[in-house]
Amino acid sequence: MKTDVKSSSSEDITRTVARITAEFTSFCSAPLAPALYLVATPIGNLGDISLRALSVLMRADKVYCEDTRHSIKLFNHYGIRAKLDAYHDHNGDRLRPRIMKELAAGLRVALISDAGTPMISDPGFKLGQAAVEAGHKIISLPGPTAAITALTSSGLPTDRFQFAGFLPAKTGARRTMISEMRDVDAALIFFESPGRLSAALEDFENILGDRDAVVARELTKMHEEIKRGRLSALCQWAEGAKVKGEITIIIAPGGACQVTDAEIVAMLDQALQPRRLKDAARDIAEELGVPRKRVYELGLKHMDKK
Ligand code: SAM
Repeated sequence: MKTDVKSSSSEDITRTVARITAEFTSFCSAPLAPALYLVATPIGNLGDISLRALSVLMRADKVYCEDTRHSIKLFNHYGIRAKLDAYHDHNGDRLRPRIMKELAAGLRVALISDAGTPMISDPGFKLGQAAVEAGHKIISLPGPTAAITALTSSGLPTDRFQFAGFLPAKTGARRTMISEMRDVDAALIFFESPGRLSAALEDFENILGDRDAVVARELTKMHEEIKRGRLSALCQWAEGAKVKGEITIIIAPGGACQVTDAEIVAMLDQALQPRRLKDAARDIAEELGVPRKRVYELGLKHMDKK
């Protein structure tokens, strides 16, 4: 296909750099009000930080982060010299009164997490709550978050979604959580560790049916990978792939909640004439997008009654 659009010339780039510099200088020269600033930082690619985020981090009186050794890399990359202190789940109760005093004294305090948006499966909620209760101003600077980056990369419906955070590490609790999501009519977003990916995908398939899903790995980084497919295919891939890195899983909304037991039984009645229950249940489950186990158990009950 022919296109009239030319790629940027070096003059264009120079002009854009000058505009970015002017914009950044203007952000940095505007007064920074006393407040608790919640600043989103990159989830991998350091280029994903905003000018406004940089201008706040450069001028904040205090920046709290999860792990100073981690955040110092971002600070060194951009030449930020603000004072960094750790705020995390283990010292939060002790530090909050101190941070409240800093806010009361009119300091500009920023909170960042290791990556992405603070409070999204990261520390900060109790700090935000305490700041609101004490009447301090909160200013949130939007930016990257793995959940939304994975959702938008997925190619799955995005009009309604439910972010469910980390799946529980224990099998029973994980299955309970997934079961609770069975009738949610929205795309589902989960964080999971690579070591438990295979087991989680298997549970998703068994409990939710063979839905479309996406495993988004190492988003915005050098080894970014977006693996799409039915859960059954993703299970097979994950089993042999020794998947590594940071992972977000997206599951397509299911139509399962609309399928009644009576509809399944009617289909079983037809399919069972020439076939074994196991085969019929597999095909019907696939066609309706409902868990194979549900169809199989309905089939067993139905055959008992006959
Ligand atoms: N607050 C962060 C955010 O807004 O993205 C999420 C923090 S949570 C502690 C970390 C989890 O997010 C990881 O274990 C992984 O499931 C997901 N995650 C973070 N970075 C990611 C990336 N680059 N690609 C895929 N998933 C990622």
